[in-house]
Amino acid sequence: MKYMTAEPFRIKMVEPIKKSTKAERQQWLKEAQYNAFRLKADDVYVDCITDSGTSAMSTHQWSAMMLGDESYAGCRSFYELEKSVRDIFGMPMVQPTHQGRAADYIMAQIYCKPKKYAIGNMHFDTFRGNAEVMGTYPVDLVIDEGLDSASPSHPFKGNLDINKMQSLVDEKGADQICVIIITVTCNNNGGQPVSMQNIREVSEFAKKYNIPLVMDSARLAENAYFIKTREEGYADKSIKEITREMFSYCETATMSSKKDGLVNIGGLFVTRNKDVFVQANQLAIVHEGFITYGGMSGRDMEALAVGLQEACDEQYLEYRIKQVKYLGDKLKAAGIPIIEPTGGHGVYVDGRRFFPQIPQHEFPSQRLVVALYEESGVRAVELGACAFGSKDEEGNPIWPELETMRICVSRRVYTNNHLDVIVNALSDIYKNRDSYKGMKIVHEGPILALRHFTAGFELLK
Ligand SMILES: *Cc1c(COP(=O)(O)O)cnc(C)c1O
Repeated sequence: MKYMTAEPFRIKMVEPIKKSTKAERQQWLKEAQYNAFRLKADDVYVDCITDSGTSAMSTHQWSAMMLGDESYAGCRSFYELEKSVRDIFGMPMVQPTHQGRAADYIMAQIYCKPKKYAIGNMHFDTFRGNAEVMGTYPVDLVIDEGLDSASPSHPFKGNLDINKMQSLVDEKGADQICVIIITVTCNNNGGQPVSMQNIREVSEFAKKYNIPLVMDSARLAENAYFIKTREEGYADKSIKEITREMFSYCETATMSSKKDGLVNIGGLFVTRNKDVFVQANQLAIVHEGFITYGGMSGRDMEALAVGLQEACDEQYLEYRIKQVKYLGDKLKAAGIPIIEPTGGHGVYVDGRRFFPQIPQHEFPSQRLVVALYEESGVRAVELGACAFGSKDEEGNPIWPELETMRICVSRRVYTNNHLDVIVNALSDIYKNRDSYKGMKIVHEGPILALRHFTAGFELLK
């Protein structure tokens, strides 16, 4: 396959996107209070705010949708989905949910306890929101390399730090830890993978102290691909052999199918614990829908059953990971500071190194999001002072260690020409970087962990 370096698909249907002028974008930014989440998608040229629910489906998925069985109970589409999930997760019990955060909610209801600690490499924000509501303390114990955007050396920057977990157990007592959650890949620090060895060691630790282990597995296939290509002993294993081994170490897994499910909506709660499954079924019936659909339509379950299989296809994964790396390599070549190595689903630009003159409390990465949209109509997202800022018990702000702008690459959606738009625009902004000033928040919602979705900003003059 020496010459076959292009996409492993061709395009059958196209979706027009709109070009706009800088003056129009400045007006739209003002109306959105400089929050990219509040822009209209129609006013965006290349949308990199998320990789969630933005995938392009295949001909096989679209045709599977026509087979959707919309029966309330026991529909055939559920059994198709269950079969596909069992094949990839190697776990027996499957509860669909309407999306990942619903699975997070069920998981938090079952595993989170008030005033206890939930350990994670880096918890995803919707789980943080759920934990906050439950009165559980989420703690991020990723390895130090995972918090150092400039250190390129580590191949698995999503790994949990066993020594930090041990210190927390020694300090608080094992009975104060209600759950350990491994997020694969680790979104918050760059879509960085977790190694099989680390998953194994965390699982041994969890067993030793009798703490349940959960996997937040939205990007399970991308993580498996990194294990295959970076970890010794896995080069000859298939992606599914790797995913099954990953899940063999945990009791329960949640998944947002909007990522590696290659569909636009849906989630999964998967477990090997019968008691947990019974509780999950009850919570699903109250909040999601009957146990064989959990908030998904039959046709959506059909598309997901197929999408999960396609995401585990090695030719697809090779294309996927290499496309993201293409963007990372080009930005790096332009001198732009990014988290290295490039992760699975996007490129993360270091806002502090990009705009050293803007202090963290003036939101350098958010300023970069605004600049990128203003110049090019490309929409990225801040993962920094706004999204991850927190407060101590006295209400003093705590600023996160990582301060980034995440440029997500949707699956099978954009060509490398679209990615070049980003490279060209960011390069020009970088040349002019001294002329930018910071921002301040003028409005925020009541749940701190979720403020980036609705906050309003002003530009400092
Ligand atoms: C997207 C995501 C979620 C939440 O899923 P939704 O489908 O957006 O509700 C939870 N955890 C991780 C790791 C995710 O990437």
